[in-house]
Amino acid sequence: MTTLDAVVVGSGPNGLAAAITMAAAGRSVHVVEGADRVGGGLRTDELAPGVHRDHCATVFPFAVGSPYLAALPLADHGVEWLTPDISFAHPLDGGRAAVAYRSIDATVDGLGVDAKRYRSLIGPLASRWDDLAVDVLGPVVHLPDHPLLLARFGVRGMRSSAHLRKRFSTDEAQALVAGCAGHSVLPLQSPGTAAVATLFLASAHARGWPLVRGGAGVLASGLESLLVSLGATVETGRRINTLADLPPAKVVVFDTDPGQVSAIAGTELSRGYRRMLGRFQQGPGVYKVDFLLDGAVPWANAAVAEAVTVHVGGSFDECAAAEATVAAGNHADQPFVLVAQPGVLDATRAPTGHHLVWAYCHVPSASTLDMSAAIERQIERFAPGFGDLVVERWVTTTHGFEGLNPNLVGGDITGGANHLRQLVARPRARRPYATSSDRFFLCSASTPPGGGVHGMCGHHAALAALRGPLA
Ligand SMILES: Cc1cc2nc3c(=O)[nH]c(=O)nc-3n(C[C@H](O)[C@H](O)[C@H](O)COP(=O)(O)OP(=O)(O)OC[C@H]3O[C@@H](n4cnc5c(N)ncnc54)[C@H](O)[C@@H]3O)c2cc1C
Repeated sequence: MTTLDAVVVGSGPNGLAAAITMAAAGRSVHVVEGADRVGGGLRTDELAPGVHRDHCATVFPFAVGSPYLAALPLADHGVEWLTPDISFAHPLDGGRAAVAYRSIDATVDGLGVDAKRYRSLIGPLASRWDDLAVDVLGPVVHLPDHPLLLARFGVRGMRSSAHLRKRFSTDEAQALVAGCAGHSVLPLQSPGTAAVATLFLASAHARGWPLVRGGAGVLASGLESLLVSLGATVETGRRINTLADLPPAKVVVFDTDPGQVSAIAGTELSRGYRRMLGRFQQGPGVYKVDFLLDGAVPWANAAVAEAVTVHVGGSFDECAAAEATVAAGNHADQPFVLVAQPGVLDATRAPTGHHLVWAYCHVPSASTLDMSAAIERQIERFAPGFGDLVVERWVTTTHGFEGLNPNLVGGDITGGANHLRQLVARPRARRPYATSSDRFFLCSASTPPGGGVHGMCGHHAALAALRGPLA
């Protein structure tokens, strides 16, 4: 058997990006995936005839905003981005809503006295997105390409979103901050959540928050097709448990959680490195419901009905209370709920007249509590009559997620807790993609820049391998 240059274990967006980077550099690459198809978090299932649901990711601000993925010729491989005019909306009581349009002008029109402050905070980051993304979506410890811009972003970002919110006095501007900070899966009082909020806000106006026509699985197939066109091979349905399961290769790149790297590579890794991986902390889990509806969601606010992404949780204080409850290991009665309604732009998701909508909330790691009623109550609060339209529900619990994909430990969808220490040391500050062995690399969302579909973890890990043993 010939020795490959690289085997990639796992074919999430990071595994595929790592494989494409190495194959494009002329190396022989084989990808081994435990599931029945490639993609990891990029997975679209047909739940019933004509009902196509994204099991995980649906909205891709950081894919189109990624210095690597966005530069790939994915249109040649069947990927069509659909970008809404409204990046996201956040309904408030009384039929009001905060709306982040792709256009910053349209957005500030709805922010009253906060218009100027919002524009001065977010405008420069959005207009220099390409420069910002190169530094922020890279390894944490590196010489920045744009030090002044990064310093401006970083100094404010180190603070909490609760601190950032104080710059604004309207419910609307504060809600925009809360919804974006909520993606961190941290209490909104945590240091570093201001960076998450400002990055998500800037992305809303830079490249927008698009879907892929046909679902996330089309993006996975497009990446696989590009990879195969570069000469690489892909094998599905083969879960790796030990190194003996792998074909001979100069390097192994793991698109897995750190615990699996330890378990699979075992004593080939130093004891100190394994101990460090053992200290890596997972974040809370998620509880998700896919709803098939007999019509569109009857949002009280008309702009919310046009948004693909909706942040549901009410005021900044209510969202903050919900996330603090989860961080304390409890379930929120009024959770912060993320809603995606892809049918607003993409008619392929459900039969004519129907809409497929997903909604998830954060829950403690490995939670088994049924959160369906709490999620529905929150949506109903801003969309009276929602419950009457539900034709069918499909639930995925924390255990359901982990059963689908072992990286989603305890239902954690971010590849590990996002607290400040692990934003910097993911899983370690220096050489995060390398391990204690020259042969093994880590490329999953448990490395910088963390969760989300951007492929940057995979791309940087592959570059580390290409500079090292594959040079
Ligand atoms: C419900 C939900 C909603 C989300 N929404 C969004 C969104 O809208 N936008 C966004 O940008 N991000 C979203 N995300 C996050 C995003 O999906 C992840 O951050 C991203 O997929 C991480 O990519 P990855 O390559 O690191 O790992 P994953 O996508 O988790 O892929 C890892 C792959 O490795 C395989 N694997 C693991 N262990 C082994 C093994 N031992 N042997 C063989 N194969 C193995 C798994 O089967 C899996 O296919 C969401 C996630 C979830 C769960």
